[in-house]
Order: sequence, then C-alpha cells, then structure tokens
Amino acid sequence: MSQHRAAASRDTPGNAARKPGAGRHGAKHRVARRNTPSSTQVVGLTAALAAAAGAVGFSHSSLASPTQANSAVNVAALSMGSGQLSDLTTARIERRQLATRDSSRVELSGADLTKKQAAADRTAKARAAKLDATRALTTKRATALAKAKAAADAAEEKLRTSATRCEMMISGYHITATFGQGGGRWARNHTGTDFAAPIGTPIRSVMKGEVVSAEFAGAYGRQVRVRHEDGTETWYNHMSKFSVSVGETVYAGDQVGAVGVTGNTTGPHLHFEVRPDAGEPIDPMPWLRSHCGLNP
Ligand SMILES: [Zn+2]
Repeated sequence: MSQHRAAASRDTPGNAARKPGAGRHGAKHRVARRNTPSSTQVVGLTAALAAAAGAVGFSHSSLASPTQANSAVNVAALSMGSGQLSDLTTARIERRQLATRDSSRVELSGADLTKKQAAADRTAKARAAKLDATRALTTKRATALAKAKAAADAAEEKLRTSATRCEMMISGYHITATFGQGGGRWARNHTGTDFAAPIGTPIRSVMKGEVVSAEFAGAYGRQVRVRHEDGTETWYNHMSKFSVSVGETVYAGDQVGAVGVTGNTTGPHLHFEVRPDAGEPIDPMPWLRSHCGLNP
C-alpha cells in the first residue's frame, strides 16, 4: 500500500500529511478534478474489477505494481477500490490466518493427543511398577514372616525337645507325704513324694527321656519308668492308666498316665520317685529344685 500512499502524496504534496484519515475522500476529489468524469468512472470501475480479481486470485502486487503505467489507475484503485480492496484483503488474510490456525489446531490437537497418550502410558507404567513393587514388598514381607515363624517354631521345638527342660508332673495337687517319712504305712521309709489329686488327673514326664517300663509293679500299682539323658530314672506310680509304651521317647510335659489308686495306696495320688543311675531313690524335692528349678 505504500505505493498508493506515495502516489497520493505526489498528487497533493503535504495535503495528506496535514489531514491524515481524510486521504481517501481527498484523493477522490483530486482525481475528479484532473480527469473527465466518464474517464474517471471507467478507470474506477476497471480498478474495482481489478481489485476484485486480485481479491479472488490474482496477486496483490499485479494491482499495485509500480510498473503500472497509468498512475491514475493506481490513484483510482486507491480511491474507488481501496475500501473494498481493504475489506477483501482483510477477509483473505483472515481466511489464511484461519486456515493456518485450523491446521495448527489440528497439528496441536494431534500433538496434544500424542502427549496425552504418552502421559497415559507413563501413568500406566508407573502404576504397574508401583503394583509390582507392592507385590514384591508383600512377597518379601510374607517370606520374612514365614522365615521368622519358621525360626520361632524351630526355637520352640528345640526348647520343647530340650533334654534339660522340665515340666511339673501334675497340677492341682497337694503334697500328702514327703521322702524319708517312716511309719506303719510303709515297710521302710517313704521312697518318694506323694502328690494327691483327683483320679484321672494327667501325669506327665518331668523331663525328656525314654520309657523303659510301663507295667503293673506290685505295691506301685501301674508304673511308668522314664530314663533321662544323665541316666536318672523317674518313676510314676499308682496310675489308673498308661499313656505311653516301653521304648517311646517322651518330652517334658508329655503325658505318661493318669492319677489312680492302683497298688498299695489309701487314696488317689501320684507317688513320684527319683533314682539316679536307676539305683536307690533320693529325695525328689531337692532334685526338682536343682535340676528343674521347680519348687513344688
Ligand atoms: Zn508315696
């Protein structure tokens, strides 16, 4: 458009500069003064057509080319067509911009989709990784727990089967006779400790050992003898029943029988004896204290 402005300035130097914004009308009047009205109209019409043609396809420069011989056409184009031309050009530019914007939008939305897809992929991967980590942690914890439980079980089993562990032979008892007591009841002094308890009360091996005898033994009634690791035997007498057989290994607390009134007894009780090396009986009470920490 600078060419048009230049033409207008040449035509009336200083006028356009003095009155900016009134240039179009001024140019129209000036052209009318310099040309016959008919000529002006024809030229104006041609210019308008040319402008229209330019708007629909011809390049803008063909209309505004400085090589155009008739400067009046330029001026006319400016005076008659510039309004339309401006509108058409604006419309064309807008169309182009819209087209560009639309294609950009398409490209952008494509890029957005790709970005969104990538983000979704990342999220899915992160979730999967987190899930895997959680599973791994759960497995690790479960393994650790199982390990700890196995270790605890092993420790418990080791303790349970320990040769030195002791359990009280009976519960809910009261002592009715101690070791060494004399009297008419026994042919010789009392060879053990009596723990009175109701018939059927479980009787348990005091320590780990092997059952070396389980039979009816005269004045002892039903008797179980258990040989422990150091060779000491413990005897369980007057029982109502046997819970073990000869040759069986028992651990501390394993039931060997139940309280009864078999043999030489006036009431239901456990007659308990301790015989080091299967020899003569000793007082069970100090032995229980020193070997088992038990103080019945
Ligand atoms: Zn007794």
